[in-house]
Amino acid sequence: MSENHCVDVGMESLTELYKIGRGPSSSHTMGPERACKKFIKENPTVDSVRVVLYGSLAKTGLGHGTDEVIRKTVAPLECVVEFDYDTQELPHPNTMDIIGFTDGVQTAKVRVLSVGGGSISYGGRADARPARVYRESTFADIAEYCRRNSLRLWEYAVEREGNGFLEYMSRVWSAMKTSVALGIDSDGILPGGLEVRRKAKSLYRVRQLDESAETRENRLVCAFAFAVSEQNAAGEQIVTAPTCGAAGVLPAVLYYQQQKSKYSDKQIVRALITGGIIGNLIKTNASISGAECGCQAEIGSACAMAAAALGELRALDLDKIEYAAEIAIEHHLGLTCDPICGLVQIPCIERNAVAAMRAINAVSLAGFLWDSRKISFDKVVHTMKETGRDLSSSYKETSEAGLAKIELRGS
Ligand code: SF4
Repeated sequence: MSENHCVDVGMESLTELYKIGRGPSSSHTMGPERACKKFIKENPTVDSVRVVLYGSLAKTGLGHGTDEVIRKTVAPLECVVEFDYDTQELPHPNTMDIIGFTDGVQTAKVRVLSVGGGSISYGGRADARPARVYRESTFADIAEYCRRNSLRLWEYAVEREGNGFLEYMSRVWSAMKTSVALGIDSDGILPGGLEVRRKAKSLYRVRQLDESAETRENRLVCAFAFAVSEQNAAGEQIVTAPTCGAAGVLPAVLYYQQQKSKYSDKQIVRALITGGIIGNLIKTNASISGAECGCQAEIGSACAMAAAALGELRALDLDKIEYAAEIAIEHHLGLTCDPICGLVQIPCIERNAVAAMRAINAVSLAGFLWDSRKISFDKVVHTMKETGRDLSSSYKETSEAGLAKIELRGS
């Protein structure tokens, strides 16, 4: 690692990546919710609020329930939410203005960018940015440090994060387990009007007579991914991993492995931390926002995190963990974000299940082929960023193209 670091180099804490909160969208509900809370706290004298949503926040805000979350957060203050579909020149696809009034006179205004994973840039203020607790910001640098100091990735993170980190990560794992458990025990139709029925419970319970061990594994992993994703779609509590839309992948893989191989919670937390390092690298060097880089940034990142986490559980070395994460993200490159009606349901829920199975396959493949690999994790992350930049905006959480345009069966 080069010794010359300026303040902007490095990565934020994993506590900024894994956030416990309500779905269905980290950038469209958690981010705006945080922004409004901050605004009200900083401007205690305002008695009414006007919020203007731009870009993807405007185009899929209704489907994600952005306006509802804002009104609930601002209540009991009077609140008007406007959707600006026309403004093109924006600092970020998820931009919003919050304007406060006191006795009818404008007294405060702030521009907020919901940058993904529930994180916000508030008024562009330098002090609004979370501290960068990691000095390193590439896998290559981290791997070099770990090798030099004989550390596993999770040990490196614990060293950098400091006090209270392991307790926080235990709470994260506990919240993930709760979301799986509640999800596989819930029935009914998801909100939003698409009439999507929850399927986790039946996937979990309906065992086929001649089911092979492999089919059973797929069914259960999918059931757990559906469970969390359905909880998210229902606006229940989940953990961003790295986002709400992709929240089912990592818990599905880890929950299944814990049930199957009886890993302790302590081991799972170490795996979560390892996956978190991968997610943090993608967040820092590319994006975890569907509105910015398409679904490759959400589901692709989640798959890479799950692959790295599973690699830690299986005690793979650094090279193999890197390769597993690289495979996982490489085969999501170009994946578009085109949720039907802007709801985080179709294709999102199934996509979590497919990515969870893919993460397990990526780890197996990495175990066989690691010594012949040609592409580094850092390079594929860079490629993901470029691919995201080249994707048309209609495939970046605007519900203007792709699956969002097709007519559904039975409708
Ligand atoms: S398609 Fe992917 S990126 Fe878009 S909302 Fe669904 S999970 Fe998120």
